[in-house]
Amino acid sequence: MLSYLQARELIDKEFDNLDLKIEEAELETALNRTLAEDVYADVNLPSFNNSAVDGIAIKFNDPIKEWNIIGEISAGNYSELNIVDTSAVTIMTGAKVPDFCDTVIPLENYVMSKDKVSLSEGVKFKRGMNIRKQGSDVNEGELILGKSLQLNPRNIAAAASCGKSRLKVYSKLKFAVLATGDELIDVNEKPSGDKIRISNTYGLCSAIEELWQTSVNLSFITDDRETLTRKIKDILNSDINILITTGGVSVGKFDYLKDVFAELGVKEIFWRANIKPGKPAFLGKYENNGKSILVFGLPGNPVSCMVNFDVYIRPNIITKYGLAETECISAKLENDIRKNDKKRHFIRGNIQKDNGGKYLVTSKKSQSSGNLVGFSSSNCLIVIEEEKLSPKKGEIVKCIRM
Ligand code: AMP
Ligand code: MG
Repeated sequence: MLSYLQARELIDKEFDNLDLKIEEAELETALNRTLAEDVYADVNLPSFNNSAVDGIAIKFNDPIKEWNIIGEISAGNYSELNIVDTSAVTIMTGAKVPDFCDTVIPLENYVMSKDKVSLSEGVKFKRGMNIRKQGSDVNEGELILGKSLQLNPRNIAAAASCGKSRLKVYSKLKFAVLATGDELIDVNEKPSGDKIRISNTYGLCSAIEELWQTSVNLSFITDDRETLTRKIKDILNSDINILITTGGVSVGKFDYLKDVFAELGVKEIFWRANIKPGKPAFLGKYENNGKSILVFGLPGNPVSCMVNFDVYIRPNIITKYGLAETECISAKLENDIRKNDKKRHFIRGNIQKDNGGKYLVTSKKSQSSGNLVGFSSSNCLIVIEEEKLSPKKGEIVKCIRM
């Protein structure tokens, strides 16, 4: 059976080969999208010398400490004035500084009487002070935002200042998520007998949206081979990039999905990897008319399919879209963990800092892959690698933040 790393290699290769489409986004909708172009300044910034404070603009001429106010310039309202060394112009923050002036004295540093101003006692002033020079932030033609950047509010403001009202961004991947199982009922129904509420599609769709991709929740269908075939055929003919199914991919009598995939022309890339939870995961690819769809058949156990998403799919989207890496933290184990096999285990746990700022982690008592509530209250996966058996309290382990 494949190891985790071998499975990852195969999955990563498929994501590497995915050609992301490019579209344009208005600035209003560009937040958190991934930039698909380099953005350059189309002007010098600032584009004119302007005042950094409210005050008076003067020509620096050291012996002169008293000036005649000859006019006023506010931001956006520049006008030419006849200025000499003994003139001062009242100026507001952001207003263009007349070419003749080279210094701005802040309001609190002078006293004004009628049309005259004089420097306050003891105030030191220097040539060039309080002027934001043309091009001092960035010059026309300079790179301001690089391709593959996930756009934050500051980036969007910077793009606006450079005249970009639309930005080229990578199109979102479109995922379809379908659960399978005769036992499934709607969330609004009360389970009786052997039925359980569907939870997988909700968890997976949220995980997809959390990474700023598009998800289509196709709810669930029963383990009926014909129905499955019909439904999956339709999905494979739709405009999605990735299909995720849950359930029916293990070795049970009614686990038809692999056969259905094969019948519909989905080429198997791998089935089953040596991890826990989430061993039965399947990956295949459907190619038709030059278009391809990645197909993940994940197990039905709700914790398993979510962990599969976290360790197989999430890291690839993060890389592809330049998103912030998931934190991987070394922490001291607070309890013993039992592990007697050579699988890679992803143990649900809680990580926190002690008073000295060191990380401690405790594993959840229940590691059942059906225990969604326990999973919901955990904040990390403790990774116990293949060769490692039963780590003991006090050992340092690697934890993936959730
Ligand atoms: P399977 O992979 O189909 O053998 O299912 C494994 C376990 O996961 C069974 O206990 C199922 O009842 C449960 N399960 C399957 N699908 C879902 C789902 N969509 N939501 C919650 N639990 C599920
Ligand atoms: Mg099933």
